[in-house]
Amino acid sequence: DELMNKLDPSRDLLLTYNGVRTLMSRYLMKRLDGSFFETPQYMWMRIAMGVAYSEVKYGNDPIKWVEKFYDLVSQLKFLPNSPTMFNALTKLGELSACFVIPVDDCLSKDSNRDNPNCFFGIMDAAKLAALLFQAGAGVGYQFGELRPEGDVVKSTSGVASGPLSFMRLFDTLVDVIKQGGKRRGAQMGMLFWWHPDIEKFITSKTGRLKDVQLQNFNISVTIDDYFMTKALRGEDVYLLNPRECTCLYQTWGQEFIKCYEECVSKVKAGLVKVWRRVNAGELWSKIVESAWDSGDPGLWNRDVANMKIEYVNDVVSEKYRVINGTNPCGEVALYPFESCNLGSINLTKYINGNSIDWVSLANDIMLAVRFLDDVIDSNQHPHEYLDRANKASRRIGLGINGWADVLVSLDIPYDSPKAIALADVVMGFVARVAVRASVELAKEKGPFPLWPSSKWRSGFLPWRVHDERVSKMLEVKGVSSDVEEYLEILKLGYGELGGLPNKAEEYLAKLRATDDELIKDASTVGVRNGALISIAPEGSRSLIAGVNSSIEPIFAIAYVRNLSIGKLIEYNYTALRKLKDSNALDNETTSKVLESGMLPSNHVMHPVLKTANEIHWRWHVFMQVTFAKWSDSGVSKTINMPSNATKEDVNGAYRLAWALGAFGITVYRDKSKAVQVIYTGVEG
Ligand code: UDP
Repeated sequence: DELMNKLDPSRDLLLTYNGVRTLMSRYLMKRLDGSFFETPQYMWMRIAMGVAYSEVKYGNDPIKWVEKFYDLVSQLKFLPNSPTMFNALTKLGELSACFVIPVDDCLSKDSNRDNPNCFFGIMDAAKLAALLFQAGAGVGYQFGELRPEGDVVKSTSGVASGPLSFMRLFDTLVDVIKQGGKRRGAQMGMLFWWHPDIEKFITSKTGRLKDVQLQNFNISVTIDDYFMTKALRGEDVYLLNPRECTCLYQTWGQEFIKCYEECVSKVKAGLVKVWRRVNAGELWSKIVESAWDSGDPGLWNRDVANMKIEYVNDVVSEKYRVINGTNPCGEVALYPFESCNLGSINLTKYINGNSIDWVSLANDIMLAVRFLDDVIDSNQHPHEYLDRANKASRRIGLGINGWADVLVSLDIPYDSPKAIALADVVMGFVARVAVRASVELAKEKGPFPLWPSSKWRSGFLPWRVHDERVSKMLEVKGVSSDVEEYLEILKLGYGELGGLPNKAEEYLAKLRATDDELIKDASTVGVRNGALISIAPEGSRSLIAGVNSSIEPIFAIAYVRNLSIGKLIEYNYTALRKLKDSNALDNETTSKVLESGMLPSNHVMHPVLKTANEIHWRWHVFMQVTFAKWSDSGVSKTINMPSNATKEDVNGAYRLAWALGAFGITVYRDKSKAVQVIYTGVEG
């Protein structure tokens, strides 16, 4: 009864028409006859109850937390990832949006008990993936441990079919399972740059295979700083067989370079079969050409991911001591069997006129971190390895939503120094408060089990590592001027922000969330969560919250989104309000916006309302890396380009992202795929 009284039906009015449509299509629970079992407010309450139930385990009053969580989500201030909304308090109980599953070089561990390299075989991975798709989650895999096509298979004296053939198997699996699930399971397939099948992988979704093959996969080439240096210098590299040099995927950074060079010596001495010697610059050009043609492959830098993670999670098997892959959209680099427990703060709720309400923002970040930490205990995974890995690191992924709306309401163009500096201030605030919240939780409930051996103990903060890497890049020929430009822009932007950064810092000091205080407490008291910050795409959550997704610029002021639930005509309401308030929405402007989704370039409001394809890729990358600085897991962002962008543009964007410390990068040239999810304009 207490909770029933708490339900506030007037909050349904916060939802937009498309928000309600989205909830009705998949989120609200239905009876067997198809009628609705719950209204949005009941749904928020179900989610709050399902998550706050974990508090019982710690001797806390769950009702108190149910009320707080309900208030947070029902006002659309914070939304957890979709599976938490689908499955909280239901029989499925899987609350995580995504996973990384290992694919070891064997068919199944059942028939390979004496092989130390076979802990979780290809079919073991396929079975687990199917169960996760059923719950609406996505899965990422590194296929680079599989021996190349044409290699020997001892047990059958046969010939290996290679990673690509197995990727097709996983692709079909999604086609089959999607019939019964809430949504199609997204997948990420990766391959190391040094794998002998890398060229086939790079072109596996390009040219005549575009729009045909691996349609249920995003693909990314796993790169590292070693490869990038070779590519920039145009030097040769060897492609090596992971079966013969297992340390290639069990090490990273300097250890990897040592392993790689030893393996190359073995090749030169004839001890290991020579696969191929290729020019790294040419391999790079192939990647760029394919990405220009079809958007695939993206890049993912394994060095950045491992450098920024605070712990090693080898509780399931000692084999998995390195992060070798990410979830489907790249926002979370995970150890095998770890999951992403995502949630995002809707920043639009904290803008008051021209200022930011730091106090409410901080309070809600604290609550959001607790919510996500409770998700870990309420979660029910379909395999005990998932349970073990996730309870050991207790990682969460707090992100933000509605960034473009914030910039529009503050009259700041997305492609301006001021916007970049504001991103740094706001995300810095979110990340630092999140760590403070996690320290407070550690005091109350204990640090995450892997904390004693983690980098948190030695004064490590991921954003400092990012800054150190960027400074080192100032010395690297070919990219130093790019780095200088970025740092100059940031400085300029800070100058234009006036007293705002100081206000944020003052409040951080009050919360004891300055770097010094965080280092002191995280290393002595501990933190509750191994990793904390992740910028997800917010595909559905942005629709439900009625804001522009994640950190992306406005895609268009008016656009059509083709989803499985039907065609949604959408408007960016912040932009429309801005135009209306400025008396800038005359008939001519209106028809132009409806037709093309954009403002004419000579319109007075155009600089603040530029759309994704009108913003130069350099600014997309600058924005992405600014958010990446504050993340310990990853950032999902698309670097949009107009259809007439050149290969040189893609080359430049990929190189810039690497230089500035991005976890990875994906570009998309307008209309480069036959079917797009979103089209600008609603007429014509
Ligand atoms: N995801 C998925 N299928 C989908 C959409 C998303 O498996 O149709 C997974 C994927 O791993 C992605 C993650 O959920 O990286 C988070 O995506 P998003 O932020 O768009 O999730 P949502 O807004 O639905 O919570």
